[in-house]
Amino acid sequence: MHEEARTRIKIMTEPEPASPPVSQVGPAVAPRKVESLEGFWSYYCDGEDEKKRSYIVVFPQSAYRTVVEHLAEDKTREHGGFLLGYETHIGPGQTPTIVIEEAVPAKFTNGTPVRLTFTTDTWRGLDEHTDRLREQGRILQRVGWYHSHPNISIFLSHWDLDVCKTFDQREYPVALVVDPVNHRGGFFVATKKVYQAHSPQGFYELPDLQVDPMMTWRNMTRQEGPQGPPTGQEGKPPVKPDVVVPTEPGGNTPLATDVRPVSQRFPIIIAVLTLLFSLGGLGVLYEKQTDLAAQLKGTQQDMASWKTTAQLLSKSAGEIDGISANVTDLRARFEQFNGPHKKPTNVSISVTPSRVDLQPSETRVFHAKVVGASSSEVQWTITPNHGTIKRNGEYKAPGSISTEEEVTVKATSVADPSKSSTAVVRLKPQARKVSEPKTEVSVRVTPDHATLAAGGKQTFTATVTGASEPGVTWSVEGDGTIQGGEYSAPPAVTEAKTVKVKATSEKDPTKYGTATVDLNPTPSATVPN
Ligand SMILES: [Zn+2]
Repeated sequence: MHEEARTRIKIMTEPEPASPPVSQVGPAVAPRKVESLEGFWSYYCDGEDEKKRSYIVVFPQSAYRTVVEHLAEDKTREHGGFLLGYETHIGPGQTPTIVIEEAVPAKFTNGTPVRLTFTTDTWRGLDEHTDRLREQGRILQRVGWYHSHPNISIFLSHWDLDVCKTFDQREYPVALVVDPVNHRGGFFVATKKVYQAHSPQGFYELPDLQVDPMMTWRNMTRQEGPQGPPTGQEGKPPVKPDVVVPTEPGGNTPLATDVRPVSQRFPIIIAVLTLLFSLGGLGVLYEKQTDLAAQLKGTQQDMASWKTTAQLLSKSAGEIDGISANVTDLRARFEQFNGPHKKPTNVSISVTPSRVDLQPSETRVFHAKVVGASSSEVQWTITPNHGTIKRNGEYKAPGSISTEEEVTVKATSVADPSKSSTAVVRLKPQARKVSEPKTEVSVRVTPDHATLAAGGKQTFTATVTGASEPGVTWSVEGDGTIQGGEYSAPPAVTEAKTVKVKATSEKDPTKYGTATVDLNPTPSATVPN
């Protein structure tokens, strides 16, 4: 059955070989033309007034599958691509009709949750792709584009409308917006260049892959009736999918000459922003956006661009209605973006000096060198919180330091708060001053008392305090002699007496210390007779 459908519906056969033999490349063949919608599955969007459709969109299953699979690959940001096909008129009323033949994913885009940029490489790739198709005899125009609004409603933002201008050369340009998270989609068409930016419309599904309907977008309803397959036969092949007229050789190729390279590059597509401004919490989200912009690029230029964006969107906020989106979701996505998806930077910081010793109340200015950031500004912090640090990096040690400890001084980049560098301050207690004596000098002699008999010896020690020089001069007042602190009693003691040993400071001779020695007389019995 599939084979039959494929055979009979020749619009979207499998792509031909990329490089067919030269002999097979003939003159350009006219686009195969859809002349009837009979047997196509017809869908309309929720809330759509189908009668107001200004024209019809025909979307083959193969292109649908390409779009859905492409946009489902990464739902964390916007992705997009191009729609190739042709414009025609169908039916007795010659209704304007856009027939999409192929969806071409843009391989090189810069996307965030809120914007999408088609790069030069993408446009070049598209040029090459259409050139290849042309060589194969398939002359297709760029009838429009598609892109994702992950978890956002289906509409065209002002930024999307800017991108749409790329396709202004088309009489009936088309834009497809898909929410790959909630499985919704919708086409937007323009009459006289004006899009119904908040009124998505349905389409006709051209069964080029299977006879059963393939479309799964939840916001679309399949129309039963004369134009759809017979009611009650869902899942069965259409009774009469006789819809396609083979190529008309040399026939009507109304748009074949209208294949122009689109050289304009359309830089920015911002999807979410419009929504943000149509919802509450404008100020908060504006802050968030500008934050985000700063983090993303960190340049004044981009900042200005984002501010302009925000202003434009503020103005347009009043125009936007009928949009339902979940603010919480959007915030969550911003936070997600600010978190794990944050764009890495190459910012590096070094702090000098890396290590210093400070005593109480001493100060030192630290310097942070920031490389790779738009701003050289840093924030200074200290751990533990001993001492103080100023915004200019000047650290001051606490007024008193009881024991030695280390304080970490940290400089954090303002442009990229994930980057920082540290230095270490060693806090030292105040050193004991070794200045000239201002305090009283004193000399102490130990022991301070001794008892000796004749010929006895006693060594005394002098301790000098309050003077830098410990030297003393020993002397004796009374009998006996002293030499370097060693006192010698006289060889004979006839009567008990007390002598004084004296140590006088060499530095300050007015200061001395003393000890006493009691001399006991030699017993008479031992006195030589
Ligand atoms: Zn968008």
